[in-house]
Amino acid sequence: MNMCKVYVTASQKGGVAKTTTAGSLGIGLAKKGYKVLLVDADAQGSLTASLGYKEPDSMNDTLAVIMEKEIENEKYDPSTFGILHHDEGVDLVPCNIELAALEVALIQVLSRETVLKRYIEKVRKNYDYIIIDSAPSLGLVTINVLVAADKIIIPVQAAYLSIKGLEQLIKTIGRVRVSLNNNLGIDGILITMLNDRTIYAREIVELLNNAYGKAINIYDSKIPLSVKAVEATTKGVSIYKHAPKGKVAEAYTRFTEEVIANA
Ligand code: ADP
Ligand code: MG
Repeated sequence: MNMCKVYVTASQKGGVAKTTTAGSLGIGLAKKGYKVLLVDADAQGSLTASLGYKEPDSMNDTLAVIMEKEIENEKYDPSTFGILHHDEGVDLVPCNIELAALEVALIQVLSRETVLKRYIEKVRKNYDYIIIDSAPSLGLVTINVLVAADKIIIPVQAAYLSIKGLEQLIKTIGRVRVSLNNNLGIDGILITMLNDRTIYAREIVELLNNAYGKAINIYDSKIPLSVKAVEATTKGVSIYKHAPKGKVAEAYTRFTEEVIANA
């Protein structure tokens, strides 16, 4: 039986560590021996770049092309087309600016919300986990991602927690669940970029608990703020490779274990 689970890191806020979390979770899972596909679904190509592919816009076979093939019902081999094998043990469907044009074209397409899902259904048998990194918007591509996913991971930046932003996202998730994907669930909220000297995790958890009760899981693991994370992104390697003994690598390892345990 195929137990593949499809996760998405989502938030309409930028800079909350969606991309960092998607990459770190994916590589964290691969390090534990799981077969993982990372899917970059942000036209900025940040996940692609953060894994060392420095010029996403010069790439040809990307998520936009795959989605176009799905729209046109073109014949292609979904198990290989557009899939890169990264040296840290994950597979990656890269993404670039072409996804922005595709987002506009999608408006005209029949069943425009389920294009990505059709692709994911074809490849999920090949993997234990698929992790999708989404853009900071609630546009049609992100809706496609929410329709294709089983579980959502919501990173929130400790210092700029936005309850209003969270409410919008949770409302959208509710709408998608009712009309397009009743299988969709929130795996949890991940507190990121936590600076222990100024903000206490306890206070944030209390705030979130006051707003949502125990309805939404807040991961025990909190990701600390560290310049090592920025350096890793800039270098195009994972945090496990850049600073394997550091506190961010340790926190993402524990987070990965929590996600596995939740499944
Ligand atoms: P998003 O995808 O939500 O826009 P990113 O993952 O791209 O967020 O992160 C935004 C920036 O913050 C990047 O430069 C990244 O390297 C940095 N960053 C991510 N996690 C941390 C962390 N724990 N500490 C410090 N900087 C971080
Ligand atoms: Mg991002």
